[in-house]
Amino acid sequence: MFTDRDRGELMSRIRSSGTAPELALERIVRASLPRWKIECNSRAILGTPDIYVPSLKLAIFAQGCFWHSCPVHGTRPSSNTDYWWPKLEANLRRDDRTQRALRRQGISVWFIWEHDLRAKTIATTHVKLAKRLERRVGVVRERAS
Ligand SMILES: [Zn+2]
Repeated sequence: MFTDRDRGELMSRIRSSGTAPELALERIVRASLPRWKIECNSRAILGTPDIYVPSLKLAIFAQGCFWHSCPVHGTRPSSNTDYWWPKLEANLRRDDRTQRALRRQGISVWFIWEHDLRAKTIATTHVKLAKRLERRVGVVRERAS
């Protein structure tokens, strides 16, 4: 049985390496934008987005349901609340700050929930995200012409 703290540490370890949702996101973006330059975990971009597409000025973050308090699965641990709640609140504030700061730099920010990058949901997400990227490419090309 894991305590909340154990669970958090376990999740942060998983989080620190390329996790399945992040890899799923990368695969979708690469498949949707073949031959485009795509940067993964670029530290040159605020917030170190999982994906950054320089020609689209687009940053995409795969958001863990627990860490980023997903409205569907974002449970608040009921023990160690003094430890967890401020931590989770701080994550939300950081996401918000990062998003606003990137937008001020003219960078678009997309957040994709971890639950949309799971085996059950990935196919639907692939279709939606591919369309969204296609629209974005269209907008950027139109602006450039
Ligand atoms: Zn979720």
